[in-house]
Amino acid sequence: MRNYDVLIVGAGIVGCACARELAHAGLRVGIVEGNISSAGATAAGMGHLVVMDDSPAQLQLTRYGRALWQQLLPELPGAVEYETRGTLWIAADEQEMAEVHAKKTTYSAAGVRADILDGVQVAAEEPNLRQGLAGGLLVPDDAVIYPPAASEFLLQQAMSHGATLLQGNAAVSAAGGNLHLADGTALHGDRIVLATGADCALLPALPIKKRKGHLLITDRYPGFLHHQLVELGYLKSAHKLEADSVAFNIQPRKTGQLLIGSSRQYGDENPQSDSRILTQMLERAQSYMPALAQLSGLRVWTGFRAATPDKLPLIGPASGLSDDSSLWLAAGFEGLGITNALAAARLRSDQLLARTSEIDAAPYLPQRITKQAALHA
Ligand SMILES: Cc1cc2nc3c(=O)[nH]c(=O)nc-3n(C[C@H](O)[C@H](O)[C@H](O)COP(=O)(O)OP(=O)(O)OC[C@H]3O[C@@H](n4cnc5c(N)ncnc54)[C@H](O)[C@@H]3O)c2cc1C
Repeated sequence: MRNYDVLIVGAGIVGCACARELAHAGLRVGIVEGNISSAGATAAGMGHLVVMDDSPAQLQLTRYGRALWQQLLPELPGAVEYETRGTLWIAADEQEMAEVHAKKTTYSAAGVRADILDGVQVAAEEPNLRQGLAGGLLVPDDAVIYPPAASEFLLQQAMSHGATLLQGNAAVSAAGGNLHLADGTALHGDRIVLATGADCALLPALPIKKRKGHLLITDRYPGFLHHQLVELGYLKSAHKLEADSVAFNIQPRKTGQLLIGSSRQYGDENPQSDSRILTQMLERAQSYMPALAQLSGLRVWTGFRAATPDKLPLIGPASGLSDDSSLWLAAGFEGLGITNALAAARLRSDQLLARTSEIDAAPYLPQRITKQAALHA
C-alpha cells in the first residue's frame, strides 16, 4: 500500500490548487482522478475571476481568491489567457441603478475598486449594448482566465514539487485514511481531501446539489466586446435556489470569441443541452446585445455547479458530516470555483499545517451545515 501525507480525490481546479499548495509545503501528496484531470466542471466553467457580494463571507473569499490569482499572474503561462477585462454590471433601469449604488458602497467598504457609470458611459464602453440602459458598475480588477489551462498549470506545479497523479481510476471508498480505487489499488493518506466537485458518491451526506449550466461560444469577433458584462438581474437568478433561471452574462475571450451564458437548473442531471433553456438564455442575451443575432455560434456545452444550501463552499474537516477524522473537504464551489480555487487551497493548507490564515476560515467550515440544520430543526 502506498502512503501519503495527503491524498486528494479529484483533479479539477480545486484539487489541483490544493495539491500545489501542499506539495510546495513539502508534504507527500497523491492526487486520484477517476477521469482525466481538469475535465469536470473546470472544463465547463467560464473562467470569470469575479468579486461577488452575496454575503460578507462570499465577498471575503472572492476578494481573497482574486488577489491570489493576481499574485500568481507573473508565473502564469500564456495558455492560461489571463486578461484583466473588468466586470461591467449592467443596470437596465433606475431600480437596478439603486442596486449599483448599494453594490458600490459594499465594494468600497471592502477595498474593492468599483466605478459607477451612467447610461452614456456604459454605451461608450460597450457600443454593442442596446440603447437606453440606465448605467452600470465597473469593477476594473476582475479578470478572465481559461480554466482548464489554469488547472493544468497548478497540477504541473504540484507534480514538479513531488505530487503523484493517479488518473483514470476512480476512488470507490474513503475511510480511516484508506482509499480504495476501482481497479483494487489501495492507498493510505493521513488525510484524504474530497475535491470531487458535484460528485457525492464517496460521502453521500455531502449537502451538495448539481446545478446545470449552459454556455455557448461564438466564432471570432475581435473588438465586439471589451469587458465581462453581467446584468444585475444575474444576482437574482443566481440566488434562486429552486426554479430554473437565465441571465445575461457575456465574456470576451483572448481569441476574439464571445462566451455567452448563463443558465441555472436544478433536477436535470442530463449533460445534453436543453433547447428550451438555451433559447431563453440566448433571447435574454440578444435583448441586451441585439447585434449578437448576426453572429455565429460554434459550440454549446453544459456543466454542473456544486451547490450548497447557503451558497458557500465546504473547506475543512468533514466533521458533522462524517465521524471519520481523516476526511477533509474542498467542495461545493457552485459558480465560483475558478475564482476561489487558490483561496480554498490556501485555507486548506493553513488548516492542515496549523498556520494562521489571512482571512477568517470559519464561514466555510463544513460543520456549519450541521449547526444550521440543528438550528432549523
Ligand atoms: C456553466 C458554468 C459556468 C461557470 N463559470 C464560472 C466562472 O465564470 N467563474 C468561476 O469562478 N466559476 C465558474 N463556474 C464554477 C467552476 O467551474 C467550478 O466551481 C469549479 O470548476 C469546480 O472545480 P472542482 O475542482 O471543485 O470540481 P471539478 O472540476 O468538477 O473536479 C472534480 C473532479 O473530481 C473527479 N472525481 C469525482 N469523484 C471522483 C472519485 N470518486 N474518484 C476520483 N475522481 C473523482 C471528477 O472526475 C473531476 O475531475 C462555472 C461552472 C459552470 C458549470
